[in-house]
Parts: sequence; structure tokens; C-alpha cells
Amino acid sequence: MVNNQPEVILLSQELIRRKSITPDDNGCQQIISQLLSNSGFEILHQRIENVDNFFAWHGENNGVGLLFVGHTDVVPSGDEKLWESPPFAAELKKGELIGRGAADMKSSVAAFVLAAKNFVIQFPQHKGKLAVMLTSDEEGEAINGIQKFMPIIAKEHHFDFCLVGEPSCSETLGDIARIGRRGSLHVQIIIHGKQGHVAYPENAVNPVFIAADFISDLSKQNWDIGNEDFPPTSFQVSSVRTSTNVSNIIPGDLIIEANFRYSPESSEISLVQQIRQLLEKHSLKNTIKTNLSGKPFHSTSKRLKNALSDAIRETVQKDVEFNTAGGTSDGRFIAPFGINVVEFGLINKTIHQINERVDVADIIDLEKIYFKVIENILNK
Ligand SMILES: [Zn+2]
Repeated sequence: MVNNQPEVILLSQELIRRKSITPDDNGCQQIISQLLSNSGFEILHQRIENVDNFFAWHGENNGVGLLFVGHTDVVPSGDEKLWESPPFAAELKKGELIGRGAADMKSSVAAFVLAAKNFVIQFPQHKGKLAVMLTSDEEGEAINGIQKFMPIIAKEHHFDFCLVGEPSCSETLGDIARIGRRGSLHVQIIIHGKQGHVAYPENAVNPVFIAADFISDLSKQNWDIGNEDFPPTSFQVSSVRTSTNVSNIIPGDLIIEANFRYSPESSEISLVQQIRQLLEKHSLKNTIKTNLSGKPFHSTSKRLKNALSDAIRETVQKDVEFNTAGGTSDGRFIAPFGINVVEFGLINKTIHQINERVDVADIIDLEKIYFKVIENILNK
């Protein structure tokens, strides 16, 4: 019974059965390494701190370059007893594959690895370069994964296009692909007052009172108007606290934690500049600290979009919608190299949940879509 399954389902199951909670790869990349090296790919394994990174390539820098990116790590299963079948058993039930990583994103990794392998077997003399890059640190800190690995690879390998296999679809396979992501910028604003006893306010400056109008202005600020693919930049305060937090002291400082999800129409500098202007308007003594977790990126290449939308239409008869919604992914570490990045994978409804699952038929179709994308890019 099991052996009647297509190779892509067997490989998805094999990967899910390797319990690889971030940053532990637990042998997933070895399985893939074996598969690809047997079909003529050259292989590089690079461990950075406690993270396994993997790169396999075929072809030369003499034409167009296409890179697939994914991760072999998964988030924890949660309470295993709540699962209808064990999270690392990768059982097939009623046409679905159930297990942690089924949708995010081991089945997708299996699909693009086999698409790449089969393309190279069918077209060993293809022009350009075809490659696969994997990390075991996407769901966690993402510090020793693609962020550090890509600069090493980019020294010797040229790529024009990148397809990140993250689960982008919403209701049916082929409905949504992502052509960019908003940036994420954390900001800490400290408003300095003067600490004192609550009974002697004349000797103190309460930073909560002097910051009130400033906070109100923050909530009304239009940071930018976005563009045709991006909504306007949004700003949210996530926490407000004082430096003392006791009942008989006027605090010295008010500490505001906030986050921007920003469009490519703004930058870290332009956003901080706008905050400074508001602080100046209210004559507030302040300290600002920022932590940039990802710059926005925006892929405008028609060639990559067409290669993908044609492949989707041919395989599942659907017109894909390109958008820039959703959280961050490793695409943010690829785009700064001047590479056009598109994200397309399985349906994301159950990712990170109990009973994560995906349709077996979708995995089979996804492999076909990836194969056609490779053909559309490298053979045309
Ligand atoms: Zn993922």
C-alpha cells in the first residue's frame, strides 16, 4: 500500500518522521543530499553554530540562475495527545498527510527537491544554474541560517530568481503567491521626565503626562501611503511602562515599545525621522533604540511571475493572485542580493497547529508546478 505512493509523498513522510525541532535538522538534509548528489548535483554542507545549512547546485553561472529555498526545521508539536495521529508518524488518512511540517514545509521541500532532481535527469545539459538551499533555523532566531549562509554562497554563485517554498496558499493550491513582504522594525522610545515623590509633584516632571499628546499623535500619523502592491505602513504600540512601577513615585522614564510593519515606500531612517519630528514638536527629552528584523522586499520581475503563474494555470487551472501579505520569511535574506524572490507553496490553514495536514493531491501537483517553473525559467 505505502509503496504505491509517489516518490514525493514517500519523501515528505520520511522527512516528517525525522523530528527536527528548530534548530535540529535531525538528518533531513542528509536524506536530500544523498538524493541530489546521486543525480549529479554538487553539494555543500555548512554548519554554523548549532544550525545545519545545505546547498546543492547543478550547472554553471553562464545563463539564468534559479534557486529554491526552504527549511527542514519545524515548530514543536504541542501536546501530542491532542493529535489525531502522532505528529511525527506522517500518517496518510482520507487523502491527507498529517504531521508536524506537512504544510510548513517538509512536503514542499520534498516537492522542489524532486522537481529539481527530475529536471536535471531529463535535461542534464540545461543552461544556467539550478540550486536548492536549506536551513534548520527558519522557525527560530534565524540568525545562523540563510542570513549567514546566503552571503557565503553568493560569492561564487549567481542567481536571478528565487522561489521560497513557504506555504503561501489560503483556500486552494494555486490561489496565492507572495511577491514581497513588509519590513519589520521594532522601536523603543524612552521619554525622560524627572523622578520624584508623588506628594511633591512640583519637584518632578511626570513623563506619562508629558508624553500623552505625543502618543496620541503617534496613533494619528500617516507614515506613508503604500504603493500598488503594499498597504500603507502600520505602527502599533505593544507595551507602555514606567521605569519605577511603584505607587508613591513619579517615574523618571516612560518606556514605549512599538513595531512598524512597513512598505518599501519607507525606510528605517525615514520612520525614525518622523518619530523624532513628533518628539521635537512636543519638546520631549528622549532616547530611541531600534531593532530591524527585516527590510521590506518587492519582486517586480515579470519573468518569474509569468513562469509561476503559467505553471499554476497549466497544472491546477487557476489564476494565481500575487500579494505581499503575511509575516517574514527567509526571502528577506535573499532579496538584498538583487535576486527576485517569489514565495509559493502549500495551503497554510493548519501551519503551526495541532493536526497540521495537507492534501496528498496538492503535494503531487506542487511538484508538477515547481517542475514547470524550472522549465519555464531554464529552458526558455
Ligand atoms: Zn515555514
